[in-house]
Amino acid sequence: MLAEIKGLNEECGIFGIWGHTEAAQITYYGLHSLQHRGQEGAGIVVADGESLKGHKGLGLVTEVFSNGELQKLNGMAAIGHVRYSTAGGGGYENVQPLLFRSQSGSIALAHNGNLVNATELKIRLEQQGSIFQTTSDTEVFAHLIRRSMAPTLKEQIKIALNYLEGAFAFLLLTETELYIALDPNGFRPLSIGRLGNAYVVASETCAFDVVGATYEREVEPGELIIINAEGVHSERFAEKRPRSICSMEYIYFARPDSNVDGINIHTARKNLGKRLALEAPVEADIVTGVPDSSISAAIGYAEATGIPYELGLIKNRYVGRTFIQPSQSLREQGVKMKLSPVSGVVAGKRVVMVDDSIVRGTTSKRIVNMLREAGATEVHVRISSPPITHPCFYGIDMSTREELIAASHSVEEIRQLIGADSLAFLSLEGLIEAIGRPSDSPWCGQCMSCFTGKYPLNTFQE
Ligand code: SF4
Repeated sequence: MLAEIKGLNEECGIFGIWGHTEAAQITYYGLHSLQHRGQEGAGIVVADGESLKGHKGLGLVTEVFSNGELQKLNGMAAIGHVRYSTAGGGGYENVQPLLFRSQSGSIALAHNGNLVNATELKIRLEQQGSIFQTTSDTEVFAHLIRRSMAPTLKEQIKIALNYLEGAFAFLLLTETELYIALDPNGFRPLSIGRLGNAYVVASETCAFDVVGATYEREVEPGELIIINAEGVHSERFAEKRPRSICSMEYIYFARPDSNVDGINIHTARKNLGKRLALEAPVEADIVTGVPDSSISAAIGYAEATGIPYELGLIKNRYVGRTFIQPSQSLREQGVKMKLSPVSGVVAGKRVVMVDDSIVRGTTSKRIVNMLREAGATEVHVRISSPPITHPCFYGIDMSTREELIAASHSVEEIRQLIGADSLAFLSLEGLIEAIGRPSDSPWCGQCMSCFTGKYPLNTFQE
């Protein structure tokens, strides 16, 4: 599905490298492959052993670094960030990495996730004299580090990390060191790889493939990794909690060529489609997927039912940024600009339309309409995830509870509202079993909060 019209957005992607003469260039390519995780801003900070310098801006990676800015970023280490803003809102000052300079040295920060206690911490820090430059909750972390009286930066970071609640994957760069940290629940993915003698770290492994790096391992929840001239050192800043990696990474966000915590995304989605076929079969002539993220699930559904997979919908790949955030009044036009039914394929056919999720329901309704207008005789909607009934507090921007159609409507009511001949969602068990994470943790180590309303950090229990 198309993130920007669906109301479901990843907040960020992060990339870092240590020990390479072309650190900024490699970070640029890494960020480019993570562009699907955030399109509103991008930035890179490099370290040359003595100082930090960076460039950032609003827009896509290719727009922000279009005029030779990369050439000015010399250094052997770099961190980069692509941003979709929700926590703290948009604006240049909130584009990351955030760079802080002080007498004791500089630090640059790139963060993926959402701190659920950011406001509370901010109030406390302001009462103690902190002044914030941005409205981003990431800055809270920098203030906590600087306020710590611990003797070393590493200890200061560890103490600061323990104040934070929520989802965070952090990259922190100093003149001479790269720090990598993942929250104790491990909500967001974060992997480490090697590029020759250099180390790379990224939100998704697709970034490794693009820069020619090889995957080494996942960053563990509650782990702090320090890379410097002496090598790589790992320690814990917190006890490991049961893993709660975001289910939506598997269902929708991550690129199909990425592996998230060891599981390939295309394969996971295909298995979701197969399971959906077992749970909700229907007689039809063709199966089609809503591009791009639902295609793998549609292929799985087709394979399991024996109904042929066809290209019933195509995405216009040349829609510019003008249409990335259409206003409510332009949303309809936005959908049409981005997605077209292939009437030569769907006309006269009973169509199974596989999608990964339904947020507000408005987009599903328009696609069902489009297929009917193109001549489909029946449209059966199959969703490769359970109904989203609760909002996310861990870094995914989705609609408020009032806007989530499944929070207040039954499956039959949603079917009527979107105008489908039939509608079925994948079960909670189906989601877990199809992804097949080998884990003893609840829900096999997946966060399921937006489907169940049970939040792992207990903060928002209803
Ligand atoms: S609440 Fe949903 S979107 Fe948010 S982290 Fe959990 S699974 Fe992901």
